Amino acid sequence: MNPLVNIKEAQALANLGAIFFINHSGGKDSQAQFLKVLQDMNIPKEQIVVIHADLGRFEWGEETDTIAAKDFVINNAKVMGHETIVVEHDQNLFDLIRRYKRWPSTLARFCTSSLKTTPIEKYIAVYAERTGNYLIVNCLGLRAMESNERSKGQDKECFDVSKVSYTLSPNPGLCRKTKKVEVDGKLKSVNMGLKVYNWYPIFDLTEDEVFETIEDAGQTPHPAYKEFGMSRLSCICCTLASKGDLIQAQKRAPSLYLEYADLEKEIDKTVFTKKVKGKTILVPLLEYLSVPSKKRIRNYVKAHLDSEAAGIFLKEGLTIEDIVESIDAFTSYIRKKTKFKKELKDKLLPLHGNGFKKSEEYQEAMHLFLEKERP
Ligand code: SF4
Repeated sequence: MNPLVNIKEAQALANLGAIFFINHSGGKDSQAQFLKVLQDMNIPKEQIVVIHADLGRFEWGEETDTIAAKDFVINNAKVMGHETIVVEHDQNLFDLIRRYKRWPSTLARFCTSSLKTTPIEKYIAVYAERTGNYLIVNCLGLRAMESNERSKGQDKECFDVSKVSYTLSPNPGLCRKTKKVEVDGKLKSVNMGLKVYNWYPIFDLTEDEVFETIEDAGQTPHPAYKEFGMSRLSCICCTLASKGDLIQAQKRAPSLYLEYADLEKEIDKTVFTKKVKGKTILVPLLEYLSVPSKKRIRNYVKAHLDSEAAGIFLKEGLTIEDIVESIDAFTSYIRKKTKFKKELKDKLLPLHGNGFKKSEEYQEAMHLFLEKERP
């Protein structure tokens, strides 16, 4: 069994009275992990705390005319008989980007640590002090298949399970929590004894299994998935989101995207790229989103051109606008070429049989034709 989904050890911690914090973002993975913890384990209700880090207008809701992620979490928890603790940071996503003068990236997810992890960890530390319960399991809806980095096990800080007796990994920030106490008349830092284990109850689940878990429980995921085709319920303008998700989110929250564009100018940085004549260049977000994805271009050229012409367009890395501009010239070239090839075949087939395309005459004629006619 994957140690990261070791239910036996999680149950042992539950039997010792550990408090299980369910990190719930409102996304499908959070929802499924909450269900799994309730279904697969035997934890008294008072040992479960549902917690949500509120990202304000950057969450689905306020700007997108859908139920707010925060309200979705509160309702979802209520259905399962639990209250929700909502925590927040005093700065928002754009404040942080302004402060660090950079956009979040896979290597620098300062927004996740500042806006989600830190407020939740702070709450856990205060909770432990207030209640005297220092044994905590911090449940996160992370899945191996969701991220290559995670599936390769590179998230060492969380996944290094070798140093502890439990294979659930200790939360490094919180386990270091110390308190200043007076010892022999001097103030000393002592470890409070807080033990927080990070646990990934749905680490091995596939995306389909996540949706199945939700459906089988008679629940529905946040409407952004089905109504708008979002693949993740991340921040509305998360630089790490897929292009498809960004395009959908832009349609729902255009004003936030205009603010994003202003911020790009303000800090004079962008992270998006596009290919121009085979070279990759940085472009502002709005330009990036206006360039159709390769899939869209492929579908377009396939619908309008024969496969050879489509191949040429795609190889050149042209945009739909480029294609539309030259499509007439290309279409007439394709027609001419088809006619020319047919005439050539009629002439050479009786002379060379089915291998006529390999004949010198054919090769030469085609070469001259392409040199002269190809746009
Ligand atoms: S969803 Fe994206 S922008 Fe939001 S906190 Fe996570 S990484 Fe940062």
